[in-house]
Amino acid sequence: MKAAFLTGIRQLEIRETAPPQIDDPHGVLLRVGAVGVCGSDVHYYTTGRIGTLVVKYPEWTGHECAGSVVAVGDQVKRLAVGQRVAVDPLISCGHCDQCLSGREHTCRNQSFLACPGQGPGALAEYLVMPERSCYAIPDGMTMVQAAVVEPLSIGIYAQRLAQMRPGAKIAILGSGPIGLCVLLASRAACNCAVYVTDLIEARLEMAQRCGATWTGNPKQIDVVRAIRELEPLGVDCVFECAGQQETLDQAIELLKPGGTVLMIGIPEVDRVSFSIHTMRRKEIQLQNVRRQNRCMAPAIELVASSAINLDQIVTHHFALAETKQAFDLVADYRDGVVKAIVHVAE
Ligand SMILES: [Zn+2]
Ligand SMILES: [Zn+2]
Repeated sequence: MKAAFLTGIRQLEIRETAPPQIDDPHGVLLRVGAVGVCGSDVHYYTTGRIGTLVVKYPEWTGHECAGSVVAVGDQVKRLAVGQRVAVDPLISCGHCDQCLSGREHTCRNQSFLACPGQGPGALAEYLVMPERSCYAIPDGMTMVQAAVVEPLSIGIYAQRLAQMRPGAKIAILGSGPIGLCVLLASRAACNCAVYVTDLIEARLEMAQRCGATWTGNPKQIDVVRAIRELEPLGVDCVFECAGQQETLDQAIELLKPGGTVLMIGIPEVDRVSFSIHTMRRKEIQLQNVRRQNRCMAPAIELVASSAINLDQIVTHHFALAETKQAFDLVADYRDGVVKAIVHVAE
């Protein structure tokens, strides 16, 4: 089969490799349909690492995917050949303390698609996943929508972690795919006021179409001052989706006392800092968001019922052979790109 491999910094090749086999009775063989290009894939592509996870070339890539079932293991109960599924890229062990307490996303023995040294990548013609990582999608849902269910599940999970009260005021700093998914999840969940910032105008326009109350570009205005003029008491929650020191600082300034900052963005640096006296006086809560937990099914439901329109954040389409162009486009933030999709088969 054909599969995409990272072969160096900003190098990616489509290579021929042996197709995977079902070697576990709970395994499901999928023909991959569509794969979303994620910021984390592009981090590995441009820098060769995220924190302590360092790429050893050649390395698989891609994890936001959907496909159709072509074969199932003996013990597979819920899925049958021909069914179409959205994939949770996490393979958890099912027996560690984290899994047993319902925190599969922090499983101590996990592997995740295309994380260096862990699972294979989704940018391949075929993929084997455990049945519990596969979620059947309804007939009306497209492969593209199903591929974007995974980032949406992160938005829904972050929104749930924030425990927003009705009428909450929130800010989303960074309006890339994950920031927009937090926005869509928040607007679907409650009638909250949402302030969104980003450095790229096209992303702010998209945030407005997705229901932002207000948008601002820190290249043009002092966004903290502008938001505080509209919300003199500060906001209840800030979703930091940029992974920058500057946006972490803005988050602390924007929050009201007792507010919560949810850290979703992946910094390229190994350490960040906080204005500890501001944080301490305001008793700010700091909540890290590690991908998502048990939000794939709710995400599918919200898309299937048209409560959330995912098509509006999908901006670019590529074939598997054009994966490198897709990664370069996303890495360089060119052409108003938000979510780029690689169509492996459809
Ligand atoms: Zn992702
Ligand atoms: Zn586990």
